[in-house]
Amino acid sequence: MAKKLTNSKLLITGGAGFIGSNLIEHFLKQNNEVVCLDNLSTGHKKNITPFLENKNFQFIEGDIRELDTCKKATAGCDYVFHQAALGSVPRSIKDPATTNAVNIDGFLNMLIAAKDENIKRFIYAASSSTYGDSKELPKREERIGRPLSPYAITKVVNEYFAKVYSELYGLETIGLRYFNVFGKNQDPNGAYAAVIPLWVKKLINHEQPVINGDGNYSRDFTYIDNVVQANEKAAIIPAKELLSNLEIYYKELSTEKGDEIKPPTCIMEVFNVAYGGNATLFELFDALKENLAKYDKAIADIEAIIGPKRQGDIPHSQASIGKAKDIIGYEPKYDAEQGIEIACEWYWNNIQ
Ligand code: NAD
Repeated sequence: MAKKLTNSKLLITGGAGFIGSNLIEHFLKQNNEVVCLDNLSTGHKKNITPFLENKNFQFIEGDIRELDTCKKATAGCDYVFHQAALGSVPRSIKDPATTNAVNIDGFLNMLIAAKDENIKRFIYAASSSTYGDSKELPKREERIGRPLSPYAITKVVNEYFAKVYSELYGLETIGLRYFNVFGKNQDPNGAYAAVIPLWVKKLINHEQPVINGDGNYSRDFTYIDNVVQANEKAAIIPAKELLSNLEIYYKELSTEKGDEIKPPTCIMEVFNVAYGGNATLFELFDALKENLAKYDKAIADIEAIIGPKRQGDIPHSQASIGKAKDIIGYEPKYDAEQGIEIACEWYWNNIQ
Protein backbone atom coordinates (compact mmCIF):
# COMPACT_ATOMS: atom_id res chain seq x y z
CA MET A 1 0.00 0.00 0.00
CA ALA A 2 1.24 3.52 -0.79
CA LYS A 3 2.41 5.32 2.34
CA LYS A 4 1.58 8.80 1.18
CA LEU A 5 -1.03 10.57 -0.86
CA THR A 6 0.90 12.27 -3.65
CA ASN A 7 0.47 13.54 -7.21
CA SER A 8 -3.31 13.75 -6.90
CA LYS A 9 -5.84 16.52 -7.20
CA LEU A 10 -7.78 17.05 -3.99
CA LEU A 11 -10.75 19.15 -3.04
CA ILE A 12 -10.72 20.24 0.58
CA THR A 13 -13.94 21.94 1.55
CA GLY A 14 -13.78 24.14 4.63
CA GLY A 15 -10.08 24.57 3.87
CA ALA A 16 -9.92 28.05 5.40
CA GLY A 17 -11.00 26.57 8.72
CA PHE A 18 -8.99 24.83 11.40
CA ILE A 19 -8.87 21.20 10.26
CA GLY A 20 -9.11 21.98 6.54
CA SER A 21 -6.13 24.37 6.57
CA ASN A 22 -3.97 21.77 8.31
CA LEU A 23 -4.97 19.23 5.66
CA ILE A 24 -4.06 21.66 2.88
CA GLU A 25 -0.63 22.35 4.37
CA HIS A 26 0.12 18.64 4.66
CA PHE A 27 -1.09 17.63 1.22
CA LEU A 28 0.56 20.53 -0.63
CA LYS A 29 3.91 19.47 0.86
CA GLN A 30 3.38 16.06 -0.74
CA ASN A 31 3.11 17.39 -4.24
CA ASN A 32 -0.66 17.33 -4.62
CA GLU A 33 -2.83 19.91 -6.31
CA VAL A 34 -5.32 21.27 -3.81
CA VAL A 35 -8.57 23.11 -4.40
CA CYS A 36 -10.09 24.77 -1.36
CA LEU A 37 -13.80 25.61 -1.30
CA ASP A 38 -14.83 27.82 1.60
CA ASN A 39 -17.27 30.66 2.16
CA LEU A 40 -15.17 32.12 5.01
CA SER A 41 -18.14 32.04 7.38
CA THR A 42 -16.19 30.60 10.31
CA GLY A 43 -12.85 30.13 8.56
CA HIS A 44 -10.30 32.83 7.81
CA LYS A 45 -8.33 33.97 4.80
CA LYS A 46 -5.22 34.15 7.00
CA ASN A 47 -5.31 30.35 7.35
CA ILE A 48 -4.81 29.95 3.61
CA THR A 49 -2.66 33.03 2.94
CA PRO A 50 0.56 30.95 3.09
CA PHE A 51 -0.71 28.81 0.18
CA LEU A 52 -2.01 31.54 -2.15
CA GLU A 53 1.30 31.87 -3.99
CA ASN A 54 1.61 28.11 -4.50
CA LYS A 55 0.86 27.19 -8.11
CA ASN A 56 -0.68 23.91 -6.93
CA PHE A 57 -3.26 25.71 -4.81
CA GLN A 58 -6.58 27.16 -5.86
CA PHE A 59 -9.04 28.94 -3.60
CA ILE A 60 -12.71 29.10 -4.54
CA GLU A 61 -14.70 31.37 -2.29
CA GLY A 62 -18.14 29.81 -2.39
CA ASP A 63 -20.91 28.12 -0.50
CA ILE A 64 -21.60 24.39 -0.36
CA ARG A 65 -25.32 25.21 -0.28
CA GLU A 66 -24.97 25.97 -4.01
CA LEU A 67 -24.75 22.79 -6.10
CA ASP A 68 -23.11 24.51 -9.09
CA THR A 69 -20.31 25.79 -6.87
CA CYS A 70 -19.77 22.29 -5.48
CA LYS A 71 -19.62 20.86 -9.00
CA LYS A 72 -17.19 23.53 -10.18
CA ALA A 73 -14.90 22.87 -7.20
CA THR A 74 -15.04 19.09 -7.60
CA ALA A 75 -14.31 19.06 -11.35
CA GLY A 76 -11.18 17.08 -12.19
CA CYS A 77 -10.44 16.09 -8.59
CA ASP A 78 -9.42 12.60 -7.49
CA TYR A 79 -10.37 12.86 -3.82
CA VAL A 80 -12.69 15.01 -1.73
CA PHE A 81 -11.98 15.79 1.92
CA HIS A 82 -15.23 17.35 3.01
CA GLN A 83 -14.71 19.46 6.12
CA ALA A 84 -17.03 22.41 5.51
CA ALA A 85 -19.82 22.56 8.06
CA LEU A 86 -21.11 24.73 10.84
CA GLY A 87 -19.58 23.24 13.97
CA SER A 88 -20.61 23.90 17.57
CA VAL A 89 -23.49 22.37 19.49
CA PRO A 90 -24.54 25.73 21.05
CA ARG A 91 -24.65 27.40 17.60
CA SER A 92 -26.97 24.68 16.36
CA ILE A 93 -29.24 25.08 19.38
CA LYS A 94 -29.48 28.84 18.73
CA ASP A 95 -29.90 28.55 14.96
CA PRO A 96 -30.82 25.01 13.94
CA ALA A 97 -32.04 26.00 10.48
CA THR A 98 -28.71 27.37 9.27
CA THR A 99 -26.77 24.46 10.75
CA ASN A 100 -29.18 22.10 9.03
CA ALA A 101 -28.91 23.85 5.66
CA VAL A 102 -25.10 23.92 5.63
CA ASN A 103 -24.48 20.54 7.22
CA ILE A 104 -27.17 18.51 5.48
CA ASP A 105 -28.09 20.30 2.21
CA GLY A 106 -24.45 21.28 1.72
CA PHE A 107 -23.31 17.74 2.46
CA LEU A 108 -25.77 16.28 -0.03
CA ASN A 109 -24.62 18.77 -2.67
CA MET A 110 -21.06 17.61 -2.13
CA LEU A 111 -22.10 13.97 -2.49
CA ILE A 112 -23.94 14.75 -5.72
CA ALA A 113 -20.94 16.61 -7.09
CA ALA A 114 -18.54 13.83 -6.01
CA LYS A 115 -20.68 11.16 -7.65
CA ASP A 116 -21.12 13.12 -10.89
CA GLU A 117 -17.37 13.75 -11.08
CA ASN A 118 -16.52 10.08 -10.41
CA ILE A 119 -14.42 10.98 -7.41
CA LYS A 120 -12.21 8.09 -6.25
CA ARG A 121 -13.14 8.49 -2.60
CA PHE A 122 -15.18 10.93 -0.53
CA ILE A 123 -13.73 11.34 2.95
CA TYR A 124 -15.80 13.46 5.28
CA ALA A 125 -15.70 14.96 8.75
CA ALA A 126 -18.13 13.04 10.91
CA SER A 127 -18.37 13.65 14.64
CA SER A 128 -18.26 12.06 18.08
CA SER A 129 -21.54 13.93 18.73
CA THR A 130 -23.15 11.05 16.81
CA TYR A 131 -22.79 8.94 19.98
CA GLY A 132 -25.36 11.23 21.60
CA ASP A 133 -26.72 9.97 24.89
CA SER A 134 -24.96 6.60 24.75
CA LYS A 135 -23.17 6.15 28.08
CA GLU A 136 -20.98 3.34 26.86
CA LEU A 137 -17.23 3.95 27.10
CA PRO A 138 -15.11 3.74 25.11
CA LYS A 139 -17.34 4.57 22.16
CA ARG A 140 -17.38 1.94 19.44
CA GLU A 141 -18.48 2.72 15.92
CA GLU A 142 -21.25 0.12 15.88
CA ARG A 143 -23.21 1.50 18.81
CA ILE A 144 -24.53 5.03 18.82
CA GLY A 145 -27.10 6.69 21.06
CA ARG A 146 -29.78 9.28 20.47
CA PRO A 147 -28.45 12.63 19.17
CA LEU A 148 -28.65 15.46 21.72
CA SER A 149 -28.50 18.54 19.50
CA PRO A 150 -29.41 19.76 16.01
CA TYR A 151 -25.68 19.64 15.17
CA ALA A 152 -25.47 15.98 16.19
CA ILE A 153 -28.53 15.19 14.06
CA THR A 154 -26.84 16.70 11.01
CA LYS A 155 -23.78 14.54 11.55
CA VAL A 156 -25.89 11.38 11.94
CA VAL A 157 -27.81 12.22 8.77
CA ASN A 158 -24.52 12.77 6.90
CA GLU A 159 -23.50 9.21 7.70
CA TYR A 160 -26.80 7.83 6.41
CA PHE A 161 -26.51 9.83 3.20
CA ALA A 162 -22.91 8.74 2.67
CA LYS A 163 -23.84 5.08 3.13
CA VAL A 164 -26.79 5.31 0.76
CA TYR A 165 -24.58 7.00 -1.83
CA SER A 166 -22.08 4.16 -1.56
CA GLU A 167 -24.76 1.49 -1.85
CA LEU A 168 -26.79 3.10 -4.62
CA TYR A 169 -24.13 4.75 -6.73
CA GLY A 170 -20.88 3.03 -5.75
CA LEU A 171 -19.29 6.22 -4.44
CA GLU A 172 -16.62 5.22 -1.91
CA THR A 173 -17.29 7.12 1.30
CA ILE A 174 -15.38 7.17 4.56
CA GLY A 175 -16.58 9.16 7.57
CA LEU A 176 -14.10 10.10 10.27
CA ARG A 177 -15.77 10.69 13.62
CA TYR A 178 -13.49 13.32 15.09
CA PHE A 179 -13.25 13.65 18.87
CA ASN A 180 -12.44 17.14 20.25
CA VAL A 181 -9.70 18.09 17.83
CA PHE A 182 -7.26 20.86 18.74
CA GLY A 183 -4.09 22.52 17.45
CA LYS A 184 -2.72 25.18 15.14
CA ASN A 185 -5.23 27.49 13.40
CA GLN A 186 -8.18 26.64 15.67
CA ASP A 187 -10.05 29.87 16.18
CA PRO A 188 -9.97 31.24 19.74
CA ASN A 189 -12.47 34.00 18.95
CA GLY A 190 -16.23 34.26 18.74
CA ALA A 191 -19.16 32.98 20.74
CA TYR A 192 -18.65 29.40 19.59
CA ALA A 193 -14.91 28.96 20.06
CA ALA A 194 -13.81 25.48 21.15
CA VAL A 195 -12.66 25.01 24.72
CA ILE A 196 -8.87 24.75 24.20
CA PRO A 197 -8.29 27.91 22.12
CA LEU A 198 -10.88 29.78 24.19
CA TRP A 199 -9.16 28.99 27.48
CA VAL A 200 -5.68 29.52 26.04
CA LYS A 201 -6.60 32.99 24.85
CA LYS A 202 -8.14 33.86 28.20
CA LEU A 203 -5.09 32.61 30.09
CA ILE A 204 -2.70 34.53 27.82
CA ASN A 205 -4.76 37.66 28.51
CA HIS A 206 -4.80 36.94 32.27
CA GLU A 207 -8.55 36.37 32.29
CA GLN A 208 -10.33 33.56 34.12
CA PRO A 209 -11.69 30.80 31.86
CA VAL A 210 -15.13 29.39 32.64
CA ILE A 211 -15.48 25.66 33.15
CA ASN A 212 -19.05 24.90 32.19
CA GLY A 213 -20.84 22.36 34.33
CA ASP A 214 -18.71 19.75 35.96
CA GLY A 215 -14.92 20.00 35.69
CA ASN A 216 -14.84 16.24 36.01
CA TYR A 217 -16.46 15.86 32.59
CA SER A 218 -13.91 14.20 30.35
CA ARG A 219 -13.00 14.27 26.68
CA ASP A 220 -10.74 12.46 24.25
CA PHE A 221 -8.75 15.52 23.17
CA THR A 222 -7.19 14.80 19.79
CA TYR A 223 -4.18 16.60 18.37
CA ILE A 224 -4.60 17.81 14.80
CA ASP A 225 -1.67 15.85 13.30
CA ASN A 226 -3.43 12.60 14.26
CA VAL A 227 -6.48 13.79 12.33
CA VAL A 228 -4.42 14.67 9.27
CA GLN A 229 -2.88 11.21 9.39
CA ALA A 230 -6.31 9.54 9.60
CA ASN A 231 -7.53 11.47 6.56
CA GLU A 232 -4.50 10.42 4.55
CA LYS A 233 -4.77 6.78 5.63
CA ALA A 234 -8.45 6.76 4.74
CA ALA A 235 -7.61 8.00 1.25
CA ILE A 236 -4.68 5.76 0.38
CA ILE A 237 -5.85 2.34 1.49
CA PRO A 238 -6.90 0.41 -1.62
CA ALA A 239 -10.55 -0.67 -1.72
CA LYS A 240 -9.65 -4.36 -1.89
CA GLU A 241 -7.47 -4.21 1.19
CA LEU A 242 -10.04 -2.18 3.07
CA LEU A 243 -12.82 -4.64 2.30
CA SER A 244 -10.71 -7.62 3.27
CA ASN A 245 -9.72 -5.94 6.57
CA LEU A 246 -13.40 -5.23 7.18
CA GLU A 247 -14.28 -8.85 6.61
CA ILE A 248 -11.90 -9.92 9.39
CA TYR A 249 -13.09 -7.11 11.64
CA TYR A 250 -16.76 -7.98 11.28
CA LYS A 251 -16.06 -11.69 11.71
CA GLU A 252 -14.40 -10.97 15.06
CA LEU A 253 -17.21 -8.63 16.03
CA SER A 254 -19.76 -11.32 15.17
CA THR A 255 -17.97 -13.79 17.45
CA GLU A 256 -17.87 -11.20 20.25
CA LYS A 257 -21.57 -10.52 19.93
CA GLY A 258 -22.69 -14.04 19.13
CA ASP A 259 -24.56 -12.61 16.20
CA GLU A 260 -23.58 -12.65 12.55
CA ILE A 261 -22.70 -9.19 11.22
CA LYS A 262 -22.32 -9.15 7.46
CA PRO A 263 -19.31 -7.18 6.21
CA PRO A 264 -20.13 -4.47 3.66
CA THR A 265 -19.59 -5.14 -0.02
CA CYS A 266 -18.87 -1.49 -0.82
CA ILE A 267 -16.81 1.23 0.86
CA MET A 268 -19.09 3.09 3.24
CA GLU A 269 -17.38 2.95 6.60
CA VAL A 270 -17.05 5.27 9.58
CA PHE A 271 -14.08 5.36 11.95
CA ASN A 272 -13.42 7.05 15.26
CA VAL A 273 -10.51 9.45 15.05
CA ALA A 274 -9.10 10.23 18.47
CA TYR A 275 -6.19 9.27 20.67
CA GLY A 276 -8.20 7.02 22.94
CA GLY A 277 -7.53 8.99 26.15
CA ASN A 278 -9.83 10.76 28.58
CA ALA A 279 -8.73 13.96 30.26
CA THR A 280 -11.11 15.81 32.55
CA LEU A 281 -11.72 19.51 32.05
CA PHE A 282 -9.86 20.15 35.32
CA GLU A 283 -6.86 18.21 34.01
CA LEU A 284 -7.01 20.06 30.72
CA PHE A 285 -7.09 23.40 32.53
CA ASP A 286 -4.05 22.46 34.62
CA ALA A 287 -2.13 21.24 31.56
CA LEU A 288 -2.81 24.47 29.66
CA LYS A 289 -1.73 26.58 32.63
CA GLU A 290 1.42 24.55 33.13
CA ASN A 291 2.43 24.87 29.48
CA LEU A 292 1.61 28.56 29.15
CA ALA A 293 3.34 29.39 32.46
CA LYS A 294 6.60 28.49 30.67
CA TYR A 295 6.15 31.73 28.74
CA ASP A 296 4.46 33.82 31.43
CA LYS A 297 4.80 32.72 35.06
CA ALA A 298 1.74 34.70 36.23
CA ILE A 299 -0.54 32.31 34.29
CA ALA A 300 0.17 29.59 36.89
CA ASP A 301 -1.93 31.50 39.47
CA ILE A 302 -5.08 32.00 37.38
CA GLU A 303 -8.12 30.16 38.74
CA ALA A 304 -11.07 28.99 36.65
CA ILE A 305 -14.68 30.06 37.22
CA ILE A 306 -17.26 27.27 37.42
CA GLY A 307 -20.20 28.13 35.16
CA PRO A 308 -23.55 26.50 34.34
CA LYS A 309 -23.83 23.18 32.55
CA ARG A 310 -24.25 23.58 28.79
CA GLN A 311 -27.26 22.12 27.02
CA GLY A 312 -26.48 19.19 24.76
CA ASP A 313 -23.21 18.38 26.56
CA ILE A 314 -22.42 14.79 27.45
CA PRO A 315 -20.47 13.98 30.64
CA HIS A 316 -17.80 11.72 29.17
CA SER A 317 -16.44 10.95 25.77
CA GLN A 318 -13.67 8.54 24.93
CA ALA A 319 -13.10 6.67 21.70
CA SER A 320 -12.15 3.14 20.94
CA ILE A 321 -9.71 3.57 18.06
CA GLY A 322 -9.23 -0.13 17.39
CA LYS A 323 -11.28 -0.12 14.22
CA ALA A 324 -9.30 2.70 12.59
CA LYS A 325 -6.05 1.03 13.67
CA ASP A 326 -7.01 -2.41 12.37
CA ILE A 327 -8.63 -1.36 9.15
CA ILE A 328 -6.91 1.75 7.80
CA GLY A 329 -3.67 1.48 9.80
CA TYR A 330 -4.26 4.63 11.83
CA GLU A 331 -1.48 5.10 14.42
CA PRO A 332 -1.89 8.37 16.32
CA LYS A 333 1.53 9.80 17.12
CA TYR A 334 0.62 12.46 19.67
CA ASP A 335 -1.25 12.00 22.94
CA ALA A 336 -3.19 14.94 24.35
CA GLU A 337 -0.31 16.02 26.59
CA GLN A 338 2.20 16.19 23.72
CA GLY A 339 -0.33 17.95 21.51
CA ILE A 340 -1.14 20.52 24.19
CA GLU A 341 2.53 21.40 24.55
CA ILE A 342 2.89 22.02 20.81
CA ALA A 343 -0.43 23.86 20.56
CA CYS A 344 0.39 26.14 23.51
CA GLU A 345 3.67 27.15 21.90
CA TRP A 346 1.88 27.90 18.66
CA TYR A 347 -0.81 29.96 20.40
CA TRP A 348 1.74 31.85 22.44
CA ASN A 349 3.47 32.92 19.21
CA ASN A 350 0.31 33.57 17.25
CA ILE A 351 -2.59 34.94 19.23
CA GLN A 352 -1.26 37.84 21.23
P1 NAD B 1 -13.98 25.38 11.26
O1 NAD B 1 -15.18 26.20 11.59
O2 NAD B 1 -12.65 25.91 11.64
O3 NAD B 1 -13.96 24.99 9.73
C1 NAD B 1 -15.12 24.83 8.97
C2 NAD B 1 -14.90 25.57 7.67
O4 NAD B 1 -16.06 25.38 6.84
C3 NAD B 1 -14.73 27.08 7.84
O5 NAD B 1 -13.58 27.52 7.15
C4 NAD B 1 -15.99 27.68 7.26
O6 NAD B 1 -15.80 28.97 6.72
C5 NAD B 1 -16.37 26.63 6.23
N1 NAD B 1 -17.80 26.65 5.91
C6 NAD B 1 -18.84 26.71 6.79
N2 NAD B 1 -20.00 26.78 6.12
C7 NAD B 1 -19.69 26.74 4.80
C8 NAD B 1 -20.46 26.79 3.63
N3 NAD B 1 -21.80 26.90 3.67
N4 NAD B 1 -19.83 26.73 2.44
C9 NAD B 1 -18.47 26.64 2.37
N5 NAD B 1 -17.69 26.60 3.47
C10 NAD B 1 -18.29 26.66 4.66
O7 NAD B 1 -14.23 23.96 11.96
P2 NAD B 1 -13.27 22.71 12.11
O8 NAD B 1 -13.08 22.52 13.57
O9 NAD B 1 -12.11 22.83 11.22
O10 NAD B 1 -14.23 21.54 11.62
C11 NAD B 1 -14.10 20.92 10.36
C12 NAD B 1 -15.10 19.78 10.29
O11 NAD B 1 -14.83 18.85 11.32
C13 NAD B 1 -16.55 20.18 10.45
O12 NAD B 1 -17.32 19.38 9.60
C14 NAD B 1 -16.86 19.83 11.90
O13 NAD B 1 -18.23 19.58 12.10
C15 NAD B 1 -16.03 18.58 12.05
N6 NAD B 1 -15.67 18.26 13.43
C16 NAD B 1 -14.78 19.05 14.10
C17 NAD B 1 -14.44 18.72 15.41
C18 NAD B 1 -13.45 19.54 16.18
O14 NAD B 1 -13.17 19.18 17.32
N7 NAD B 1 -12.91 20.62 15.64
C19 NAD B 1 -15.02 17.60 16.04
C20 NAD B 1 -15.93 16.83 15.32
C21 NAD B 1 -16.22 17.16 14.01
